[in-house]
Amino acid sequence: MRFDLLTLYLLAVGTLLLSAGMTLWEREARPQRRRELGILAAAYATLAFGCAVAIGRHIFPGTIISGASNLILVSGYLLVLHGVASLSGRRHRKASVILLVLLAATWVLAGSAWGGGLWNYVSALPIALVSAATAWEVTRSDRLRGLRSRPIVVGIVAFHALFYATRIFALPPLAEHFGPDILSVAAKITMYEGVLYSVGMPMALLALIREEAHEQLLNASQTDYLTGVGNRRWFFEQGEKLVQKHLARQPVSLLLFDLDHFKTINDRFGHSTGDEVLKLFAHIALRSLGPNAIFARVGGEEFAALVPGQTRMDARAAGQSLSIAFSNAAEAGIDGVCVDATVSIGLAELGNGMATLSSAMSAADRALYAAKALGRNRIELAEPVEQTAP
Ligand code: GH3
Ligand code: MG
Ligand code: MG
Repeated sequence: MRFDLLTLYLLAVGTLLLSAGMTLWEREARPQRRRELGILAAAYATLAFGCAVAIGRHIFPGTIISGASNLILVSGYLLVLHGVASLSGRRHRKASVILLVLLAATWVLAGSAWGGGLWNYVSALPIALVSAATAWEVTRSDRLRGLRSRPIVVGIVAFHALFYATRIFALPPLAEHFGPDILSVAAKITMYEGVLYSVGMPMALLALIREEAHEQLLNASQTDYLTGVGNRRWFFEQGEKLVQKHLARQPVSLLLFDLDHFKTINDRFGHSTGDEVLKLFAHIALRSLGPNAIFARVGGEEFAALVPGQTRMDARAAGQSLSIAFSNAAEAGIDGVCVDATVSIGLAELGNGMATLSSAMSAADRALYAAKALGRNRIELAEPVEQTAP
């Protein structure tokens, strides 16, 4: 099979323009990533333009066309870097301008004397550097951490950087040893790799951005909009996992919270102050229950927590101090008004015949009902289920 360099260039122009079109299409469906997708589409179009100008090199040989093509291609790679960095809210404007100015100066000063050398050897250097920076941006991004497509993007871009870096160091001795014919072979291999990059990289980045959007939707479906803590669905999903993971090794306690006379708080202070009371409770609970607990809003003014490693006595003490901290904070003022807010708590320890989350929920609910009946602002313990002999 024979590879024709012009065909490879034309292929790269085509795939890059297609990638730009697909990225623009995706941009309409992803308002949160509109800006980044716009930058990436511009990057692919710029790379396509750079390849088209490089084709012109073969029709009008000369330094100006080579220099222009190299500058346009590096601008395209810088736009890729800019688009990827923007995904994590970063930018590299200053460094990009400096690189382009240095590159332009190199072509102006050395182009007429060493145009061929610049094109064959030096032009790969900024491409290797910018691609390495792009791979590094994706690697260090906290926003993209955990996404399955991330290693694919890093792999493709890092390979591209490595490929160009190898070209810089390997090509001069190879050309010296085998003669200038090796340069046309290297050009074809470079363009073949370029065609693969121009398809693989945009596809992987689109997958990454779609996956990120999917994760955000999933997250939103598990989060309570008002307080930002997990919702009922999340609580049961995570709760089942927590019980399975911990119950065999250590105690697990369940606390059910219901704010007292919340309807009266709404009626007296207004619904928006009521919302602030809910947020305050969630904030204090998250802080006082610690990082191992899972805590969620499971109803209007109802919350639940599963605490691994705590017996019912430990959990009772934790519930009591949370209840005091909440009342004090509400009394200190919410939206500038002192609110008399309290919470009733039902507590159940899993195990001892109460091995499932749903059985513990029923027991804690009964204990909560008892706390309400006994005057509110208190914590009641569910009776442990008696073990009957088989
Ligand atoms: P009890 O002490 O028996 O629990 O009385 P309560 O008034 O707290 O209970 P009830 O179930 O009668 O009322 C709950 C109230 O919680 C009614 C509802 O308007 C209010 N509520 C539910 N969700 C929200 C919310 O998101 N924001 C606000 N401000 N109020 C809410
Ligand atoms: Mg209630
Ligand atoms: Mg209530």
